[in-house]
Amino acid sequence: MPQCPHCMTEIPPDATICTGCGARQGAAIPKTVIFVGALSLPFILIAFNFLFRGDFIGVLVMLPLIAMFLGLAAVLFFVLRGKKSGGQAWYR
Ligand SMILES: [Zn+2]
Repeated sequence: MPQCPHCMTEIPPDATICTGCGARQGAAIPKTVIFVGALSLPFILIAFNFLFRGDFIGVLVMLPLIAMFLGLAAVLFFVLRGKKSGGQAWYR
């Protein structure tokens, strides 16, 4: 039987709520999505740097890059969410 990662109680395979601590099972966010989303962070920081310096052309150059990575992360999230490889996680 699978174990709850929070309290180590054994959980029936078809259960969605832990009988030990009440954690709920939900779709895990795939690591690929987190990775692609994280790739946009440096560009967001660079865009803010341009913004503070008043360089709006720099901001305009960075925006499509940020949108591309966030958009890709969103697409991957919806594509991978339903698959088994995405897996399930327990949330408390
Ligand atoms: Zn538990």
